Amino acid sequence: MRDTVIVGGGPAGLAAAYRLSRFPEQHVSLLERAPVTGGLAAGFSYGSYTLDFGPHRLHTAIDQEILTDLKDFLGDDLVLNRRQGLIRLSGKYIPFPVGPGSLLQLGLRNILKISLGLASARLPASESTNRSYESELQRRFGKPLYKMFYGPYAEKTWGLPGSQIASDQAEKRVNQRGPADLWRALLGSGTSAYYYYPKKGFGMIPGAYEKAIADDCNVQVHLHSSVEAIEWREHQILRVHCNINGESIGTDPANVVWTAPLPELINRLIPGPPAAVVQAVSSLRYRAIVLFYVVLDIPRVGQADTYYFPETRYPFNRIIEQKNFSPDMVPPDMTVLCMDIPCSAEGGVFSLSDAELLEMVMPGLEEAGLAGSEQVVEVFSRRFKYAYPIYDLSYESAIEKTMAWVKELANLWLVGRQGLFMHNNTHHSLYMGYRVADAIANDSRGSWDSELEQFAAFRVAD
Ligand SMILES: Cc1cc2nc3c(=O)[nH]c(=O)nc-3n(C[C@H](O)[C@H](O)[C@H](O)COP(=O)(O)OP(=O)(O)OC[C@H]3O[C@@H](n4cnc5c(N)ncnc54)[C@H](O)[C@@H]3O)c2cc1C
Repeated sequence: MRDTVIVGGGPAGLAAAYRLSRFPEQHVSLLERAPVTGGLAAGFSYGSYTLDFGPHRLHTAIDQEILTDLKDFLGDDLVLNRRQGLIRLSGKYIPFPVGPGSLLQLGLRNILKISLGLASARLPASESTNRSYESELQRRFGKPLYKMFYGPYAEKTWGLPGSQIASDQAEKRVNQRGPADLWRALLGSGTSAYYYYPKKGFGMIPGAYEKAIADDCNVQVHLHSSVEAIEWREHQILRVHCNINGESIGTDPANVVWTAPLPELINRLIPGPPAAVVQAVSSLRYRAIVLFYVVLDIPRVGQADTYYFPETRYPFNRIIEQKNFSPDMVPPDMTVLCMDIPCSAEGGVFSLSDAELLEMVMPGLEEAGLAGSEQVVEVFSRRFKYAYPIYDLSYESAIEKTMAWVKELANLWLVGRQGLFMHNNTHHSLYMGYRVADAIANDSRGSWDSELEQFAAFRVAD
């Protein structure tokens, strides 16, 4: 048997464990620090509600082999939903995905401003010099649309002005390459109008993978468990010191798959990496998130599954009405809104009490016509420190330096959103899990660089 230790039981770690379990000579120990698997894609039960960690949908861009597995696992529980989004701009709601009617909602003045901006947009990327998220998107769409939508959205999500964010973020996040793509989107041929969703919440997806490996004697999933130290010598990890549910256990695996945050790996290596790598990793920053849940004693707010709030005057980024993803998740006479509030993990919003959060969000909820304070019967929150990797202007050289060194450890495999410091979707992490398992089982480290290049080209869907 060949042993693999997988660190982290989110979609990437679970998918890697499942795929490795298909190969008879592979043995897997998956260590998950939390009391449950699923990572950011897990859900939770609260009283009679089943809830996700903010807006989660399975995008139709998913790899077909993985979709087939998920259909096998979930059967009729996996349904295809039509997207029902609304973007709030200038005090009005615009349907999302955008269509021919969307622009008209903005009013003549805004349409004129945006059109003039689009007409002045410069097309070839090579024309632009100082490339940041801001310069890249202003080049593609002109200043007015940037100022109205992309700029404030970036500042809220990543906590930096667009001029301080790397242009990679625009590459990853904004699929439209210029005015022609934007017009095509406005005519209704952009974002997919559909998504997959499990009837009892998004958490059924990681849950299905956990179930699929539950009875396999070659796979052990350890909750409340992590890695304390990793000893390496001459380009190989030799020994991993695990903490399995409070007990220290040493093991000598053939491979280690790391899906937990990258800085946590560097801190655990013995001997430590060169100072330049330690310094590079310590410059990587993550944006935290508060997910704030508001229970209303009304049957439903509206038909939309997600409301988008790019403007900085609202403290929240998006609000979902959970039962509009699946009616099976919240009783008919009540409804639950969940809003995601990106913030710094150091103090501020991240450490506000639920009562303080309610005070902060209520004016926005009322102004947007979503809830009145008299309808609120209960509030609660969930908080994540590692929600979004921040692509600031120095991140690329820090990642390059780190990856160049980490690559030298021939039996260490970095995958997932946290392990690769890569803004991504769940289907990307599942895909990475399958690919790393195939590479380990087939002993094909030589082709791993080209897999990493493919992962880097993933586009994030909202
Ligand atoms: C608000 C929000 C909305 C999103 N919406 C969507 C969406 O609509 N569609 C979509 O496809 N994707 C969406 N995503 C992205 C999706 O959640 C991620 O792509 C996916 O969860 C990444 O999976 P992962 O396994 O790579 O990482 P994670 O989900 O972060 O899992 C990492 C795991 O590692 C564990 N861990 C961390 N440190 C350690 C340690 N030291 N030892 C052991 N275990 C450790 C964590 O507890 C966690 O379980 C959204 C993300 C956010 C934040």
